[in-house]
Amino acid sequence: MIVMKFGGTSVEDATAIRRLTAIVRNQIDRQPVVAVSAMGKTTNGLLECARLAAEDNLTEALRKLESIALHHHNTVSQLAPADEVESLKMALEERFDGIRNALHEIAEIGEVSSEYSDTISANGELLSSTVVAAAFRGDGIDGRWFDIRQAMKTNAEFTRAAVDFTATDPLLKDLFAPALAEGGVPVTQGFIGSTGEGRTTTIGRGGSDYSAAIIGAALDAEEIQIWTDVDGIMTTDPGIVPESAKVRIISFAEASELAYFGARVLHPSTLLPAMKNDIPVRVCNSRRHEVEGTAIVRTAPQSRALAKAIAFKRGITIVNVASDRMLMAYGFLAKIFEVFARHETPVDMVATSEVSVSMTLDDTRNLEAILTDLRAFGEVKVETDQALICVVGDRLKYTPGLAAKIFSGLSDINVSMISHGASAINVSFIVDGDEVERAVRALHQTLFEVLDEETFALAN
Ligand code: ASP
Ligand code: MG
Repeated sequence: MIVMKFGGTSVEDATAIRRLTAIVRNQIDRQPVVAVSAMGKTTNGLLECARLAAEDNLTEALRKLESIALHHHNTVSQLAPADEVESLKMALEERFDGIRNALHEIAEIGEVSSEYSDTISANGELLSSTVVAAAFRGDGIDGRWFDIRQAMKTNAEFTRAAVDFTATDPLLKDLFAPALAEGGVPVTQGFIGSTGEGRTTTIGRGGSDYSAAIIGAALDAEEIQIWTDVDGIMTTDPGIVPESAKVRIISFAEASELAYFGARVLHPSTLLPAMKNDIPVRVCNSRRHEVEGTAIVRTAPQSRALAKAIAFKRGITIVNVASDRMLMAYGFLAKIFEVFARHETPVDMVATSEVSVSMTLDDTRNLEAILTDLRAFGEVKVETDQALICVVGDRLKYTPGLAAKIFSGLSDINVSMISHGASAINVSFIVDGDEVERAVRALHQTLFEVLDEETFALAN
């Protein structure tokens, strides 16, 4: 069997869902399980409704919800089998009633708790999957809707719940195996799950990719396909470097580094379940299904180009702590990192000298509290609007002088916090936010002088 995951733009309206249906039909012999995101910008829309309700603007919240409802009703009317339209519209309306009730409760309480946030946002996927399953039946495919909350078991960390794999894996198998054995096409939700007691959770924004990989791993899929609105993983952002090329094949390790360090194609956790079970992942464009996409596999061929891709993240903050007490001391770094752990803030990069340590942060929601705590250890400095650039490729491991080559192309750009080693296939560093485009263009020119056809798609 295979898992086919379709993102928000791939289910955004009737036209997109017709394309999706054709894509699934093409591979129906491979026994697909289909997992979908919410339609278009529905997740943001629902969360906006919740925010409005909490601000005591219930009228506006309900008005906004009506336009979301209208779009779902219109779409299902266009795609479902004629004799199902009435009952489906009633099923959708029942869900919207549930959301309306929740919005009233939020307005009453005056804030959106993280549990309410999940209760509301989970509806995006519950609704879109209902529409997609109906569209399959409207087109003669035996689409069967499944509520994944019965199987995707998580802890109660609402809005970023962690999956309990021991409970989930067998439940996922049991949920889908009978339908697959009968030749049905299960349609289910990405992004959502539930606690042991059945309270609805979500696994983090953009988490549908991760859900698809979890399903694929549990059912030992032949392949996990992530259908999105770009052709695959590119050598870098084509918006900045128009001559960037698509990467045809890349290793799990390389793609994980890229996802983590800013390539927006895949949710960073996606590859973990796939890697563990050695299931290839393919990223494809649902608007151009004939394009081959990017294959992510255990071992990829070595490219002739010096790297596979360049990713970057803007809006990075550097925190530097300097203290004489660090000199020759032990346990100092542990204490500093304990501060970040306590404030639930991940650190991406670290550089140390005898008397200071610099760390980069992407998530600055708790920055003020972190800084207050860090001041107990020494002098604290903060630099905002930095950018992290990350060059990935397994040749970095084998090519002497490659790091020098990378930086020679950047001689007039101020580079800091260079890191190479933690993962031998990644060189990352920080530049000023204003310099990131210039740096990426220069790097792309240096690293992708020669592109071989085994690894890169030269045209399309
Ligand atoms: N719909 C969710 C989001 O917008 C999950 C996803 O699309 O992956 O974050
Ligand atoms: Mg996504």
